[in-house]
Amino acid sequence: MMAQTEALFRDDAYLRDGAARVVGINDRGGILLDRTMFYATSGGQPGDTGRFTREDGSTIAIAATVTGETKDEIIHVPAAEQVLPEVGETLQLAIDWERRFKLMRMHTACHLLSVICPFPITGASVNEADSRVDFDLPDANVTKEDVTIRLMELVNGDHPVFTRWISEEELESNPGLVKSKNVRPPRGAGRIRLVCIGEEAVVDSQPCGGTHVASTAEVGEIHIGKIEKKGRENRRFRIRFGSLPAS
Ligand SMILES: [Zn+2]
Repeated sequence: MMAQTEALFRDDAYLRDGAARVVGINDRGGILLDRTMFYATSGGQPGDTGRFTREDGSTIAIAATVTGETKDEIIHVPAAEQVLPEVGETLQLAIDWERRFKLMRMHTACHLLSVICPFPITGASVNEADSRVDFDLPDANVTKEDVTIRLMELVNGDHPVFTRWISEEELESNPGLVKSKNVRPPRGAGRIRLVCIGEEAVVDSQPCGGTHVASTAEVGEIHIGKIEKKGRENRRFRIRFGSLPAS
């Protein structure tokens, strides 16, 4: 089954709820909608959880959101033992905002870390309590204390975070925009979504399809919990909420 879902989170990461129509149920019970603010797992950011409310007031708990055959197909995976809606039915959608907002803060923090550590990224995973970014970096001659101070300077700078679309040609003429070593931005769509930080993107810009806060100040207090050695050429930086614990 192929379907294109209007991905509302792409234009407004702060949209928490709204109505949508069921356009399909896949053979595994996944729910497809005409539009959604539920982010689907991609680029190291986990998909949203939340609930759908039917016209009779009953609810369907959504345990995960994933992409289907293409990134334009968004599949809402119900929790166990949920009653499935009918195709054509209108549902009221609500994401678990508390969780999503933490993921937005963490995801934005990963961008800030890549500004401070301008090395090729070999992997990243955003989570509610602890996120990690792996860098191709044989020798980490930085300390978690130094990196934390520089991260908090960017947070406290209250820099705007916004998106803009560029053409593939524009991306090709600026290869430095791509920081990920293994993940290439999706091709073929003709345009690439850039996530920019700072006025005129002075702090950073890089291709990304995830959800971010609107200003670095919203990231709040964060610190580097650990810098780990992952093989000869990789260093894993762990970002956590709160201030750096006294050691
Ligand atoms: Zn991002």
